Amino acid sequence: MKNFQIAMISLLCLIYSLPQMGRVFADAVYDPSTNTITLSHLLAGDGSNQTESIYATNIKITASEVRSEGLSWPPFIHPSPWPAEIDYFDMKNQELTISYITTPDQSIERRNIVIKIGSVLSFDYSESIAAGVSDFRFRYVLDESLPIEWRNEFEQIMTNLQRDIPILAKPSWYSIPIFAWKSDTEAPLPFIRGACICGGGEGGSFTWMSLEISAWEFENDAIHRYSVVPHEYFHVWQKSHAPDVMEIKWLSEGAAATLESIYVQEHYSYDYFSSAQEPNLSNQVIQTPSLYESYDASGGDLDVNYSGSVFLTLVLAKELKNKGLTETQAFRKILKDFYLLKPDSKNWKNKFEEIFLISTDSFYEAVRQYEVSYKDLLPSSKLKLSEIFSN
Ligand SMILES: [Zn+2]
Repeated sequence: MKNFQIAMISLLCLIYSLPQMGRVFADAVYDPSTNTITLSHLLAGDGSNQTESIYATNIKITASEVRSEGLSWPPFIHPSPWPAEIDYFDMKNQELTISYITTPDQSIERRNIVIKIGSVLSFDYSESIAAGVSDFRFRYVLDESLPIEWRNEFEQIMTNLQRDIPILAKPSWYSIPIFAWKSDTEAPLPFIRGACICGGGEGGSFTWMSLEISAWEFENDAIHRYSVVPHEYFHVWQKSHAPDVMEIKWLSEGAAATLESIYVQEHYSYDYFSSAQEPNLSNQVIQTPSLYESYDASGGDLDVNYSGSVFLTLVLAKELKNKGLTETQAFRKILKDFYLLKPDSKNWKNKFEEIFLISTDSFYEAVRQYEVSYKDLLPSSKLKLSEIFSN
């Protein structure tokens, strides 16, 4: 957090020394002289998989009512290359959330204003997105330091993921930018680093996906330069169903890292489980599995590259198969059905027992009987994400 604040201060200085130059994006603008609002990008949906959504650009509207005035926001979160925000119209209650809005002279900047639309005056373009199709909007910012092959592959991976594991936009979670760059060049913004779903700032934070791709991974043809994409994508999916469960480490990271390995097995025939996750597996994972519920308690050498978190996930799949589930059914329960119960950091043990029909204590007891190895736990090469996530 401390680093973030320092980064913010240095960024603020940078913006003040380069007036206007950073503002190449287009966000929502309120023009007091005509009393109109121009939204650069708008998504309209109801958060369900039953109704089509609409995506439109350059929409001019009037407001009939301001439901929430939002927050005023210092002008430092939106420097170039931060991409234009998307606004969300909730078709259920007919409310428009404007992510970020300015006046033409930028004397006012606010975020998360909620209004009722008076009338729609005009728009440039619109498309409908069929019911059930992924409508969560990712805004790519792919730095030129990345080879064109990587950028093309990234877009293909995102297409595959959005097809196989759709994310349905909802008023609280409908869009994030993705910043990707090669580690030997400067980060696109000073406060963005590493590979994560990150956020920060005072007065309510913005959220983004950061993909800092190590230069070493290009030199060594390491599959992680691609596998990090499904890993972080799955965190976005998890957050759309159970944002709070991200705090339970082995459930959150074990699932994301397992999905990452299933993805590269399916698409590159590469065994990332054995080559990158299993090494460094610690004995602690069978001695005290509950340590892996916490980032702090399973830090250091205990969970390098989530080796232990993935182990617990694979053991859970094995236990479910022992009860008669097919492999696809077992992984569907772990990677999908559990989240649909909306577990949170307080009720997750009850939800765990409800979906897996075993208490966490009994599961940890079962874990203690396993060898510290992935050997008999690896998913078969037939396992497909599209089948795990099918309805
Ligand atoms: Zn993760």
